[in-house]
Amino acid sequence: MAKQEDFFKKVVSHAKEYGFIFPSSEVYDGLSAIYDYGQNGVELKNNIKAYWWKAMVQMHENIVGLDSAIFMHPTVWKASGHVDAFNDPLIDNKDSKKRYRADVLLEDYCAKLEDKAEKEIEKAKKRFGESFDQAQFEATNPRVVEYREKQKSILARMAKSLDANDLEDVKTLIEELEIADPETGSKNWTEVRQFNLMFGTKLGAAAESAMDLYLRPETAQGIFINFSNVQKTSRQKLPFGIAQIGKAFRNEIIARQFIFRMREFEQMEMQFFVPPGTELAFYEEWKEKRYKWHLALGLGAENYRFHDHEKLAHYANAAADIEYKFPFGFKELEGIHSRTDFDLSAHEKHSGRKIQYFDPERNESYVPYVVETSVGLDRMFLAVFSTCLKDEVLEDGSERTVLALPPALAPVKAAILPLIKKDGLPELAEKIFNDLRFDFNIISEEKDTIGKRYRRQDAIGTPYCITVDHDSLQDNTVTLRERDSMKQERVAISDLKNIIDEKVNFRTLLSKV
Ligand code: ATP
Repeated sequence: MAKQEDFFKKVVSHAKEYGFIFPSSEVYDGLSAIYDYGQNGVELKNNIKAYWWKAMVQMHENIVGLDSAIFMHPTVWKASGHVDAFNDPLIDNKDSKKRYRADVLLEDYCAKLEDKAEKEIEKAKKRFGESFDQAQFEATNPRVVEYREKQKSILARMAKSLDANDLEDVKTLIEELEIADPETGSKNWTEVRQFNLMFGTKLGAAAESAMDLYLRPETAQGIFINFSNVQKTSRQKLPFGIAQIGKAFRNEIIARQFIFRMREFEQMEMQFFVPPGTELAFYEEWKEKRYKWHLALGLGAENYRFHDHEKLAHYANAAADIEYKFPFGFKELEGIHSRTDFDLSAHEKHSGRKIQYFDPERNESYVPYVVETSVGLDRMFLAVFSTCLKDEVLEDGSERTVLALPPALAPVKAAILPLIKKDGLPELAEKIFNDLRFDFNIISEEKDTIGKRYRRQDAIGTPYCITVDHDSLQDNTVTLRERDSMKQERVAISDLKNIIDEKVNFRTLLSKV
């Protein structure tokens, strides 16, 4: 555990030291759970967005984009259910005065039971070696079965109580399981209360005529209220999707895990509109597709798992999370939800306008059903950044820190380094720089020894370093050093563009999706 915590600290400090993420308003001692992306962070974030946008919009003829406003008519949130039901159950510890989400305390308890089950499986795997039948062991080992059944029954009871708004039972469950404050060990809890997560604000100058607004807690509703506009003007037939990337705001009760849980964050959401009755087949298809999108990044299949929801949100008839192994354990990275016709029907009802689709094949009009994929951009950033950050011991015993990012996501694609600051080398370096900058985000660095410059580029994940030396002046070649293998080869200046492009373009990623 201590090791994991140390690593997580390293992730946070590396992100700051190398211009990826700064605490917001740091000169005023920061603002809780709000972060700013620095010069390298914004590039990495933009590249993650591009990967998602290209995979969704560019690669699907039947998905189009949208950029709807953050402010929406307040009735949107009444219709969507957010005014009445976008709550988290919170509980306070009377001794430590710390606030927690009651459902998260229970889920963390279950995660510990799952860890125990997995330890048993690991032990058995070692004991039985080749002949180990994992499926049979999981089905019959009394301890594993007990851990898993206990989890199931806790989650089912929590889901039932939350659905029935029986908050007293949620507290009883926490007490029965003797769950303690994770920071202090105290079991002295208050009642469980519901807390609405939406930020409110006002539109208009005069206090009496001002209108109450909310900052959107999800981007999806902007897509729903534009369904008819987009469908008619794009002439799309069902099934088709609308994709959007944008900010969302939630007044999170606890926000202690860096950019994992923020109060202002970004979502990449796609709502796929389908004929009623076909939604569960599309739901399965999108689960598969989104999983492949993640795997294509090469962060390792072992870092992902699906978690099917026991407790369905008020709008869903099926839901699953893709969870990722963050430095603090498996947590939700993306949600895939079959949202039925709940949202469009609700907006029809509240607006008094028809929001329907005429299906020429069925020869009828209906409210489409929706399958949603929703991934947090900042959580994607954290997943990529933390997994790619590595300390390596080299053959000569020296150490380096490398951010082994997928090349298409790297903030800087190549660094041009004149060996020394004289003899015409900076001038040639500048010429190469001025040519390559049309195609790639590149930088040029003259300061420090070549070794130090290589290390700095490794730390921000630059796939290539290009060194210009005296031979370059004679034969128009440079030394190209590759980040991961650290291999150096002599290449013609005229070949640089193609070599870099081959490595960093999105084609390699997109062809695997
Ligand atoms: P959680 O259970 O972790 O609070 P959620 O189920 O409320 O998440 P959704 O409403 O399904 O999340 O939102 C879709 C995605 O948006 C999530 O999978 C996550 O990646 C991202 N997300 C949600 N809340 C936050 C937040 N506070 N900070 C950063 N990303 C978030």
